[in-house]
Amino acid sequence: MAMQRTLSIIKPDATQKGYVGKIIARFEEEGLRIAAVRKMHLSRLEAEGFYAVHKARPFFGELVEFMMSGPCVVMVLEGEDAIAENRRIMGATDPAEAAEGTLRKLYAESKGMNAVHGSDAPETAAAEIAYFFRETEIF
Ligand code: ADP
Ligand code: MG
Repeated sequence: MAMQRTLSIIKPDATQKGYVGKIIARFEEEGLRIAAVRKMHLSRLEAEGFYAVHKARPFFGELVEFMMSGPCVVMVLEGEDAIAENRRIMGATDPAEAAEGTLRKLYAESKGMNAVHGSDAPETAAAEIAYFFRETEIF
């Protein structure tokens, strides 16, 4: 198992409900280090660019509107097998299908408004981290 970095986003539903501290604490408790963190309100262009891979999906418009609906907290998490670890801690995309105790089971309300984002592979993690952070902002 190698040390990895992954991009995490606390989405607008979770920041608005006051779950930022609980979610960050959970990552640290599970052994993931917060290597970078910033609160930001995405513009339409930033949200569309981040989710460009989903452009052809029927839910793309809804997803972009949701991601612009309030501030996000964007983070780089670092640790052993961080990409898969983060996905495990997050749970399934749809909170109705997410395992007990996962962030989406605890804090998400729907498949669209699902509290957190996590990169899904080394290539996407690298691209997503670079989308938000310069190397000099990651510690
Ligand atoms: P994940 O975030 O678990 O990697 P996907 O990459 O498939 O999931 O989808 C990206 C995001 O798009 C999801 O986290 C969710 O916010 C939204 N989304 C996915 N599927 C749907 C859907 N059927 N309806 C509405 N929003 C969706
Ligand atoms: Mg995804």
